[in-house]
Amino acid sequence: MARQHAGESTRLWCVVKADAYGHGLMRTAEALTDLADGFALIELEGAIALRQAGFRQPILMLEGFYHADELSLFAHHDLTPVLHSPPQIETFLKRPLPTAYLKLNTGMNRLGLNECEFTYAFNALRHVTDVTVMTHFADADDIRGVDWQMTRLTALWTALGDPLVKTSLANSAALLRYPKTVGHWARPGIMLYGSSPFQEVAAAALDLQPVMTLESEVIALRDLKQGERIGYGGTFTAEKPMRIAMVACGYGDGYPRHATTGTPILVGHQRTRTLGRVSMDKLCVDITGRTDVNFGTSVILWGKGLPVEEVAAAAGTITYELFCAATSRH
Ligand SMILES: *Cc1c(COP(=O)(O)O)cnc(C)c1O
Repeated sequence: MARQHAGESTRLWCVVKADAYGHGLMRTAEALTDLADGFALIELEGAIALRQAGFRQPILMLEGFYHADELSLFAHHDLTPVLHSPPQIETFLKRPLPTAYLKLNTGMNRLGLNECEFTYAFNALRHVTDVTVMTHFADADDIRGVDWQMTRLTALWTALGDPLVKTSLANSAALLRYPKTVGHWARPGIMLYGSSPFQEVAAAALDLQPVMTLESEVIALRDLKQGERIGYGGTFTAEKPMRIAMVACGYGDGYPRHATTGTPILVGHQRTRTLGRVSMDKLCVDITGRTDVNFGTSVILWGKGLPVEEVAAAAGTITYELFCAATSRH
């Protein structure tokens, strides 16, 4: 899907930061190796591990280097830094590498050079190293879109007078929604893991297949009388006699503690709801009227048969956070 949207002439940095969004760096890199023209991440240890495992693609370090002494490792392992601050650029100029990305702040106001810093850096670097211009969109997934940032980028372009400059702009949302942002290298992340970057569009509607399934099982069963409460704080009270089950998964496993009563969950392949607060190691589900649930019945917290987007919405968060959290105990 990422390839389809990028077209043949745009190359793809497959973003595998944060242990490949919680999916495991090595196995994700293996699964993506035919698609990936390169890998982009934050962690230096991860990049070195990719090289040691034999991956030959270019590797982009999204925050560059933090200290000058990392530059020899960048050189040794052929890593491309994103340069986003004036001190980084000073350091880089003392020991240039063959390729670098130069990040322009077009309004996200997180990382990136302002126009003046950028012009100085671009002119200092263009004869020393192979420079690609990068920016990151703040609103590609919502109504504000990318135009306001594209305008600032294009204005700088014109000022630089270099139409041949290479660009890397698009994350998943921009790649899916704004073809004009594809540039020379796009940077899809979340869509590679089968999740939608848009709050209001389901993954299935974008033809994305979920990759991660978080599974557990039933470890206790209980009947409740009307008026009994469940778990810490007793936030749920049975309005009638109920049957409930405990599932061996909690926020210590990366399930969101903020998922409220009513969050969808699959118990024995049937949809039901969570009840009360999520604990560190367990959560409670409603199995009233069911006779098929027993010790060991399988539970799917998200993934196959249950879109992770629904759980994220019930917990007031985004799928990115759920994926990253699920690495801990599993
Ligand atoms: C994480 C990240 C991406 C990927 O974003 P998605 O929304 O997951 O596609 C792209 N570029 C940068 C700079 C990033 O930090």
